[in-house]
Amino acid sequence: MNKHDSERVCGMLEAQGSLCVGTYEEADIVVFMTCCVREAADVRLLGQAASMKNLPLRAGTPLSKRIVAIGGCIGQRDGEKLIADLPHIDIVFGTHNLSSLPRLLAAALDEGGHHTEVLDHAEGFSTDLPLARASGWAAWLPITVGCDNRCSYCIVPTVRGRERSRPIEEVVREAQGYKDAGVREVTLLGQNVNSYGRDLYGSPRFAEVLERVDATGITRLRFATSHPKDLTGEVIGSFARLGSLMPALHLPIQSGSDRILAAMNRNYTQAHYLGLIERLRDACPGIALSTDIIVGFPGEGASDFDETCKVVEEVGFSQAFTFIYSRREGTPAAALPDDTPAEVVQERFDRLVGIVQEQAWRQNQKELGAVVEVLAEGSSKRDPRLLSGKSPKNQTVHAPLPSGMSGEDIAGSLVKVRVDEAKTWYLAGDVVGPV
Ligand code: SAH
Ligand code: SF4
Repeated sequence: MNKHDSERVCGMLEAQGSLCVGTYEEADIVVFMTCCVREAADVRLLGQAASMKNLPLRAGTPLSKRIVAIGGCIGQRDGEKLIADLPHIDIVFGTHNLSSLPRLLAAALDEGGHHTEVLDHAEGFSTDLPLARASGWAAWLPITVGCDNRCSYCIVPTVRGRERSRPIEEVVREAQGYKDAGVREVTLLGQNVNSYGRDLYGSPRFAEVLERVDATGITRLRFATSHPKDLTGEVIGSFARLGSLMPALHLPIQSGSDRILAAMNRNYTQAHYLGLIERLRDACPGIALSTDIIVGFPGEGASDFDETCKVVEEVGFSQAFTFIYSRREGTPAAALPDDTPAEVVQERFDRLVGIVQEQAWRQNQKELGAVVEVLAEGSSKRDPRLLSGKSPKNQTVHAPLPSGMSGEDIAGSLVKVRVDEAKTWYLAGDVVGPV
């Protein structure tokens, strides 16, 4: 969601004649689009924003001072306080008023001084703002903003507000526009896409969104994120029915322990989650499953953690994003006693990462010898002679670039790759033809 918001910010500034540059040194204006879901993101922002203070200006700039803006979740949460802590910051804005940035920027350029604007509620969707998409062949498409769940550890509902859905016609029109412009892959976005439409139509209509976006003729369709308590049979069935829906699902479990899931206010049990996995595999054999897991939630004991490891082994995830619990001020979990020593949490975390990597390796081994369709993204960072792209199951795939072709030439093309090497993080092989 943050990447998408950043594309909007670039779009607005480019519409005013700005150019996007690759480094802080070259930039006259720096806009930080921030995340506060875990403390590490806070720390990173403070460090990077502080480093702007002594960064020399670009040679030839017409400005006497680099303009620095902080937007997004940390701007929303901290507002004016950021300027008190970092007086060289010029602008602070929040999650609900991306569209104010050009005005705040003009004020900072004309008048100097500090300009903060944070709203309590959204003033409309940022989806009508100009957009500078980072890629020509893939597009993020937000269908909801905000979140109505109250997972006890999570700051997102506080900084992103109540869940609001975009009208289905608008979503379909945007998807059709991408398809007609040659975009290959659309990823529908929301904190919990499964509850899409509840605010607009009285009941969720996510399965209908999938069906209608599929009908645009888009080649690849994905979505994130899905809350297990709201994943319906209809959505599960979509994996069997819809040709464009890729066989990969991100379904955050957070913990395998029913006691901890209850304390997290997740509203499902381990058995319910495993039941969903079974139904997904019935509907779409071979579906790649990925997840998010928090280690060290307050009160998590050794047996709770063992349950998490057990579920990870049982499911066989292709990928898992593992996080050490981070206390977020203002969330219900912040008030819970938290007495597990940090070394114990770290040891469990490392153990879990080991299991997750083993699982990912095992899942990738299953692709050996298979011919997979790869959406090429360009050349590999590891070796410019290789193309890098994504399989339908979202695995990274490398293969030698066809002769005479550069990474740029091939980006956005679909090619067939025969897999002859399977590692934990990627598959590799040779291009055997176009799709
Ligand atoms: N709405 C999505 C994603 C929310 S944030 C969902 O529900 O899946 C992405 C991930 O960050 C979460 O899934 C969770 O695993 C992690 N996360 C959120 N708050 C956290 C916290 N306080 N400490 C550690 N991890 C957290
Ligand atoms: Fe946070 Fe839970 Fe909402 Fe996801 S569903 S954003 S974890 S409150």
